[in-house]
Amino acid sequence: MGFKSIAIDGPSGAGKSTLARRLAAHMGYLYVDTGAIYRTLGLAALRRGISPEEKDAVVGLLKQIDIDLRYGEDGLQHMYLDGEDVTQEIRRPQVSQAASAVSAIADVRAFLMDMQRDLACRHNVIMDGRDIGTVVLPDADVKIFLTASAQARAQRRHRELLERGEQVEFDTVLADIQARDKRDTERSAAPLRQAADAVAVDTTENTLEESVQRLLDVVKTGVGL
Ligand code: C5P
Repeated sequence: MGFKSIAIDGPSGAGKSTLARRLAAHMGYLYVDTGAIYRTLGLAALRRGISPEEKDAVVGLLKQIDIDLRYGEDGLQHMYLDGEDVTQEIRRPQVSQAASAVSAIADVRAFLMDMQRDLACRHNVIMDGRDIGTVVLPDADVKIFLTASAQARAQRRHRELLERGEQVEFDTVLADIQARDKRDTERSAAPLRQAADAVAVDTTENTLEESVQRLLDVVKTGVGL
């Protein structure tokens, strides 16, 4: 009866998606990246020249567009905006800021919640985001709050962007992370915070492999493997 769910929340760049993907592959669970859903809406706003901070316009936009989340043959999550695969495009830094802005709108969060809960009803999932353990899946079997210092997170993100061919300065990446941290924690709609029953894991001093091992230990104990 029932599917298992693992919630991983934390600030931007803490390594949630990389680690969640690794854990999901290890356990045979579906990895759900909820930030990608907000990013797709942020991209839609940018494309239509709508300011992502303009509540009424963004909420109106939700009714005009079609956001879809599908798993490709590669087993990876792809995002579609009106039928177009935007999986790569939503990673651009401008889209990160737009996603952070649209995600502060309460009506947006309510609208996108069903898509997230629906996946957890039909699969064993590892879902990452900001409010998974607190709002989306309050009954998750395991909750992890993943953090690292802003400096460490900016270094990792900067390396990732350079590898992808995006030419950005380290200071720009750090400022972007700090701006998103501020907005994500200070917004009134589902702010980023650790659930009372979440296990906090700080990866500032850990390599990727060490972090994977630490999370696997937490997860295996939590779901009884
Ligand atoms: O995780 P990612 O950086 O891709 O998320 C993009 C933005 O979407 C975040 O800055 C955050 O503001 C927002 N977000 C959210 N709730 C989630 C996932 C992401 O508010 N569950």
